[in-house]
Amino acid sequence: MPEELLCVNNITKSYAGVKALEDVSLNINRGEIHCLVGENGSGKSTLIKIIAGVVTPDAGEIHINGKHYPKLRPIDSIREGIQIIYQDFSLFPNLTVAENIALNHELARGQKLVNWRRVRQVATAAMQQIGIKLDLDARVEQISVADKQLTAISRALLQNAQLIIMDEPTTALTQREVRSLFAVIKSLQARGISILFVSHKLNEVLEISNKTMILRNGRKVVDADAREFDRAKLVYYMTGRQIDDSTYDYRPGELTVPLLKVENLTSHGNFSDISFELMPGEILGITGLLGSGRTELALALFGVQPADSGTISVEGKPVEICSIQDSIAHGIGYVPEDRLTEGLFLDQSIGRNIVVRTIDRYVGRGGLLDGREVEKGIQAGVNQLSIKAGSPALPVKSLSGGNQQRVVLAKWLASSPRILVLNGPTVGVDIGSKSELHEILRELARQGMGLIVISDDIPELMQTCSRILLMRRGRLVDEFRRQDTTENQLTLKLTEA
Ligand code: ADP
Ligand code: MG
Repeated sequence: MPEELLCVNNITKSYAGVKALEDVSLNINRGEIHCLVGENGSGKSTLIKIIAGVVTPDAGEIHINGKHYPKLRPIDSIREGIQIIYQDFSLFPNLTVAENIALNHELARGQKLVNWRRVRQVATAAMQQIGIKLDLDARVEQISVADKQLTAISRALLQNAQLIIMDEPTTALTQREVRSLFAVIKSLQARGISILFVSHKLNEVLEISNKTMILRNGRKVVDADAREFDRAKLVYYMTGRQIDDSTYDYRPGELTVPLLKVENLTSHGNFSDISFELMPGEILGITGLLGSGRTELALALFGVQPADSGTISVEGKPVEICSIQDSIAHGIGYVPEDRLTEGLFLDQSIGRNIVVRTIDRYVGRGGLLDGREVEKGIQAGVNQLSIKAGSPALPVKSLSGGNQQRVVLAKWLASSPRILVLNGPTVGVDIGSKSELHEILRELARQGMGLIVISDDIPELMQTCSRILLMRRGRLVDEFRRQDTTENQLTLKLTEA
């Protein structure tokens, strides 16, 4: 019989009339890795705070280690061995790793004088428990996000943790850091510690969890053994709809001249000897870990950080790309990282949002805005991205989420590029919006545009690209065709040293 550690029953919590959680129940057994999954705003953080005793539910029961807590306080939760690793880790930036891990523990022993040698010993022992080694004397403000997280986990261990809750722990981690976090989680589990892992990243959930609970709009949709789920099911439960999981097949057209041809492109210290071609209608993926040179390559194509040598040809003609103006003039567009998630001006019209970045090209000789040209520009964006709106004069907030995303992209496409480079287009985006965005990219490719998607999100690459190039330490080291590879193979290749 598995031993039950935590049992919350029929929890309800509202904020000013908005139901953050409604009738939610959750059981966690010892040594179990439980994933809590849901889109942004579904109530995950609220549930965690209730378990921590930080937020009091309006209704419902909480039992920890068999004990009923009618009004759970943070101190109760901590005494019962519940430790939460929040996204900011709550560490002291100006203290060292050792101090952050062990100071609390030492002070709790009630001595007036801190024994610094013991602080180091205790911190070392905590790290050994999960097989990690950090520089004890480094100041926390100077270490990586991943190491901060490991510091917070080590500290939790010293608080006699029985359940460690991690709120979206992989958000700021590289693939490799995710691998080592997972190893740590497994070793915690081996010590009988339970984990509640909060995420909306499907791969991670599928890989790490024993049990999975899905929240949607504050309600529990399902809670079951992790083996019951595959990608499609997770997505369905999270979003409440069947998500288009289709892939894109590039069919070579009659044109044999590449839209873009890059030969031996080199930027000293960033990347070297990069050669590839992009055909009209093709979506080419470029992947690599942080520091592989993938972003620098994109910046060179867009003229932000021009390359030192090599050639770039557009539609068969060599071009000079020394500035952003050059690349725009040759029909190359670039969407920087995170820009597809940045805000729109929701109260302003759809039209204004579309032309806001390019407004200066509509200024005529007399310095006046040419209204007719502006209208044309707006209409072009609406048409190209099939934005479904009564009129471009309506405010953006009147659109559905998917159409709002089209407006964001229309804004970036207002310079009418034929080649579009997107860097991490869906970092931090919900699964539902993500799949809509992928469909937009496929549509643009069908219209004959050539796209380059730079990403380390393997499922994203598999769903949008027909060909994927792998960069490592500034070089192209491999090329994959989507039909001939799998997500697992690609993940392995990506994370190989
Ligand atoms: P998640 O962590 O899944 O993104 P949250 O638990 O943070 O979701 O939020 C669930 C809902 O409750 C959201 O609609 C959010 O706006 C609302 N909410 C959360 N905390 C507060 C708060 N302190 N005051 C008002 N509304 C809140
Ligand atoms: Mg949250």
